[in-house]
Amino acid sequence: MTHPLLDLPPLTAERFASIERGVAQLLATGQDVVITQGEALLPLEGCIRSGARPGSTALNVVTGPYGTTFGNWLRDCGAQVVDLAVPFETAVTAEQVAEALRARPEIDFVSLVHAEAATGNTNPVAEIGEVVRAHGALFMLDAVASVGAEPLLPDAWGVDLCVIGAQKAMGGPAGVSAVSVSARAWERFAANPAAPRRSYLSLLDWKERWIDPGRTVLPHAPAQLEMLALEACLDRIAAEGLPAVQARHAAAAAATRAGAAALGVAPYVPVAAQAAPVATTLRVADASVVAAKALAAEPSAPLAAGGGALAASMLRVNHYGPAASLPMVHTALTALATALSTDPAPALTAATQAWGA
Ligand SMILES: *Cc1c(COP(=O)(O)O)cnc(C)c1O
Repeated sequence: MTHPLLDLPPLTAERFASIERGVAQLLATGQDVVITQGEALLPLEGCIRSGARPGSTALNVVTGPYGTTFGNWLRDCGAQVVDLAVPFETAVTAEQVAEALRARPEIDFVSLVHAEAATGNTNPVAEIGEVVRAHGALFMLDAVASVGAEPLLPDAWGVDLCVIGAQKAMGGPAGVSAVSVSARAWERFAANPAAPRRSYLSLLDWKERWIDPGRTVLPHAPAQLEMLALEACLDRIAAEGLPAVQARHAAAAAATRAGAAALGVAPYVPVAAQAAPVATTLRVADASVVAAKALAAEPSAPLAAGGGALAASMLRVNHYGPAASLPMVHTALTALATALSTDPAPALTAATQAWGA
């Protein structure tokens, strides 16, 4: 018996290359795009292990939990690591990055997360990119939670390594990801004897075996279902229009914030301009208990308690992908109001108004 997910004809090299071009178009990049056959941590780790080495000094900007992971990888590679940590409810400023770079002129690698779905903040990458470019360091950006949700322009912003995943605002699966790689980054990787080679983490393998020979023969069987899903994500975003997709995420964030305020619930990120369009985090006491009550009332509500220690004090509304819609925001707010034993009506009205504005 044939099955829609099984018995598919092999994904051709041509189709794979056209999906890569679709990602490049989404990122408005003229740089090489490598599609990586795994969750976004694969290219993130691949970039760090390719770019960092003993003798490197890295500035690792920590604005949420992923920064800690990057710092650990960088140290593992033998790099000296300067951690620039800011409170998770704020954004880092370009001036803070500039100061850190001035203090340590030997910094040759900078890692930054654009938007943090886990904490709900977003960083001013355009301004930071200018500072990093002037210093000359290689600039890696984790844009998994920003792609599709807010403007992301790696070439214009001087990003050497821009990592994306399909599972957030792109509305796709977690099992496929991609990275744009600048010519400078390729040079750094090639000059690094410690960069992964003949390895699943290797980006250089993809350059040497796939990109340089003209993208004609795939180095191994691709993750076909994920590739088809990624193609479908790109098609769906193109059909709606990227600006419209981004506007929908911004509207969902504004509506959630306004609705929460009407319930007397404070945002975790106080400055609206520093709040990520991908997810809204809220300050809620006993958040894990509240989340459980909310989900019992509205099982489809896109909310969860914060991860780790944040489960005690933060609730996260995940309005991304198809969930970036006014009905979903209403569902989340109704669930929250029910859990807090209060009337949802003012929150729904406030959310509708903010969505329209
Ligand atoms: C979601 C996300 C990832 C991917 O991690 P998962 O744990 O698989 O969701 C990576 N970086 C950032 C900033 C993210 O928000």
